[in-house]
Amino acid sequence: MNAADSSVMRGILENRSFEFSENPEEADLIIFNSCSIREHAEDRMFSNLGLAMKKNPKAAFILAGCTAKRHGAKLFKRFPHLGAVVAPSELFSIGETAEKVLSGVAGIEALEGGYGFVPRHGGVSEFVVIQTGCDNYCSYCVVPFLRAAERYRPAEDILREVRCLAASGTKEIVFLGQNVNSYRDEKTGGDFTDLLARAAEIDGILRIRFLTSHPKDISAKLIDEFARNPRLARHLHLPVQSGSDSVLRAMNRKYTSADYLGIVEKLRESAKDVALTTDVIVGFPGETDSDFADTLALIRKADFDGVYVFKYSPREGTASFRMEDDVTEEVKKERLAAGLALAKELALKKREAYIGQKAETLFENDDVGHSSQNYLVFKKGAKAGDFGQVLIKAVSGFRLMAE
Ligand code: SAH
Ligand code: SF4
Repeated sequence: MNAADSSVMRGILENRSFEFSENPEEADLIIFNSCSIREHAEDRMFSNLGLAMKKNPKAAFILAGCTAKRHGAKLFKRFPHLGAVVAPSELFSIGETAEKVLSGVAGIEALEGGYGFVPRHGGVSEFVVIQTGCDNYCSYCVVPFLRAAERYRPAEDILREVRCLAASGTKEIVFLGQNVNSYRDEKTGGDFTDLLARAAEIDGILRIRFLTSHPKDISAKLIDEFARNPRLARHLHLPVQSGSDSVLRAMNRKYTSADYLGIVEKLRESAKDVALTTDVIVGFPGETDSDFADTLALIRKADFDGVYVFKYSPREGTASFRMEDDVTEEVKKERLAAGLALAKELALKKREAYIGQKAETLFENDDVGHSSQNYLVFKKGAKAGDFGQVLIKAVSGFRLMAE
């Protein structure tokens, strides 16, 4: 989501004649786009921000994103060099804010706003935000507090952006939202699957991906769309968070592990070649050894292609912040390591099954691309924008090595 927001900000600034610099020590303006999802992300950003200010004291600085929203004007005391804080919902004001900061105005707070269409020149693969905010209030999660209420962009506005990117050479789009399954177009009443079908008809778009799906809202219609729509990439990211029903209840996720495995079964019946990835949190308050064993068992049953495992991080303001963070750091670390080891075993097994097979691949850069399943593919001599079947000869690290 932050990568998508950053490219929108870049588009807005380039339309105002700003020029992108690869070198932060030469830049006149440096924007940090921040993430608050876990404390570690914030801590790292603050130390990088301090360092960048030391290295280029002449530059103007803006802090955008969730951390800007979370700490607001307090940040001007901690970082006297900071010209502005810009919340995620206010990123469309970045043009005016950047110009003001460069002309010496300080202490700008831009904390409320909306989303819209920005003409921009796309790379081979581009994010397109279809939904902002979140109303789900999972008990551990700070997103609903920082990215405002759930809002859907009108389908016309989204498709206009896709056509504009396609005309500039983009071949793959990734639709983004905290919960894309709940997407609705107010004008036509169309749902997320309808949006996918319309986007797939746009000339030049070879492949469509989407992130993130919530198990409670995923529809049979969307699962069927994998079998129906050949432009839909064969990959579903469906965060499960835990395999224990009591932990899922405490997380306010609104499904059980059996519900989740039911979705996996339907998916595997209707479209066998769809890769499935997930997110898991370890060390949630009250998580016992047996709860964690349920999570490992679910990971094995679902036979994931990839699992992102996170240590629980208490976030102020969320419901679970009031629960005791009672799993020790040592146990969290052990569970993280066990989760990652299992994830690695499954990821390698899935990739090795491709040796000797063909994989449809889009190269985003020279030599490097992604298969429809979102596996990283390496092929010497491939050019950015190349698309087609490649023969997989070996697996190295987690990469498919192709000819
Ligand atoms: N809207 C998406 C994900 C948003 S955050 C969804 O619901 O799937 C991305 C991931 O970060 C989450 O899936 C969750 O696994 C993790 N996460 C969120 N809050 C966290 C916290 N407080 N501690 C640890 N991991 C967290
Ligand atoms: Fe956070 Fe849950 Fe919303 Fe995802 S669905 S952003 S985890 S509150």
